[in-house]
This record gives sequence, C-alpha cells and structure tokens, in this order.
Amino acid sequence: MSVSENLNKILSQIEAEESKCALTKGSVKLLAVSKFHTIEEIEEAVKAGQKAFGENRVQEAYQKFTELYKKYPDLELHIIGQLQTNKVKKAVEIASVIESVDRIELLKEIEKQASKLEKKIEVYFELHTAEDSKSGFDSFESLKEAVDFCAKGNVPHVIPKGFMTMAPFTENQDLVRMSFKKLKEASESLRNEYPELPLTELSMGMSGDFPIAIQEGSTEVRVGTAIFGERNYNK
Ligand SMILES: *Cc1c(COP(=O)(O)O)cnc(C)c1O
Repeated sequence: MSVSENLNKILSQIEAEESKCALTKGSVKLLAVSKFHTIEEIEEAVKAGQKAFGENRVQEAYQKFTELYKKYPDLELHIIGQLQTNKVKKAVEIASVIESVDRIELLKEIEKQASKLEKKIEVYFELHTAEDSKSGFDSFESLKEAVDFCAKGNVPHVIPKGFMTMAPFTENQDLVRMSFKKLKEASESLRNEYPELPLTELSMGMSGDFPIAIQEGSTEVRVGTAIFGERNYNK
C-alpha cells in the first residue's frame, strides 16, 4: 500500500476508536513518525494532507526539515527521541515541540536556546513507564520536580504542554495498558497540582498499540511503521 493509503487507513482507525470512546472526531492527533524515511516519502504524506511529523534524531531531522520547510512552511515537527544537550540548539531551531524532555538540565538548555531565537517552544515531559525503554524520568517525583521547575517561572520560553511515554514492546496488552494508565495518572495528578500550566497533551501509542492508548486517554499517537513501512536501519 502507498503512504497515502496507509495514512487514510490509520486516520479511519483513529476515528473508529474516537467514536467507540465517545470522543469528538479529530480530538486525537496523528503524528507521522518519519525517522529513517526520505524527504520524498515525507512529501507523499504531506501531499495526502499530513502536517505533523515526528523525528528522533536531530541531525537527520535538521537535514530533512530545513529542506521541507522551504516548500511547506506550515509543517509541524516534534522531536521524540532522547536529546543530548549539544543538539538542543538545532532541535529548537527546527521543532515546534520537544516531546522527550527527561531532565531539568535539558529544560535549562532549551530555555537558553529558545530565548536566543526569541522563540517559544512546547515541551512534553517523558515518563519512563516500562522496563524495556530506557528513556524518560524514572520516577513520578523526578517528573514532578521538572514540572515544578517550569511552574516557578524558570523557563519563560518553554511551554509545558504535556506528557509522553513509550509502552513496552510486548504482545501482553495488559502490560501495555498499564504503562498508558501510569502516564494518565501522573498527568492528572500534575494537572491538579499545577492548574496554571497548559498540560493538556498525552502523547502515547505507536503503530502496534495506538488503539489501546486512545482508550486510555491519549491525545496524540505517534505512528511510523504503519504509515511509512519498515525502517531500514542500514541506510
Ligand atoms: C519510532 C518511534 C515511534 C513510532 O514507532 P512505530 O512502531 O514505527 O509506529 C513512536 N515513538 C517514538 C518515541 C519512536 O522513537
């Protein structure tokens, strides 16, 4: 199947899940994860109407999206992979959201670079909810410290917009669901504690598990393989 056919299939699956869960149509956003795929493949998705993309490596994203923005200035790029401090400058330059915030040091560097560019940038806090993922804050307490750091006004160019997690890679749907529930609970607790912050987004669900994620309250699913096909890591 082509990228546009895959895209339409995923969009109708999202819509079906929204309707099952009595959610407004269009309330769950689709982020097309284009890592390891070419500019041409991304363009196919753009031509089919997709605007929001996710990439996990800054260097690769930078090369592809500085080109793509020339032709399609209204694309939206989310950085979803673990981010080294020395890559933050480029990440802030090209992305509108950094979903993989996993330490306060990173928030400070994002603030520094965003203020230089006089740009506001949205971030999601990543929570580690499953054993076989390595990334994210490793406890609710450390996550809360980072949210609190934002709430205290330390990073005025950073908009704390939501939370992200990756479920375990397993056939066991209960484990997957548990991981999503953990993020949902953490987000509800922090929204209650910091009602002044715009923490509306819950980024959870990938090709293999996005229907479960939507059932558990996801507002954004990050789908790569089911749109673009298998990634070729040898490229
Ligand atoms: C690669 C990636 C995805 C997409 O995974 P698929 O299984 O290809 O849909 C989603 N989220 C993150 C953080 C990723 O790195």
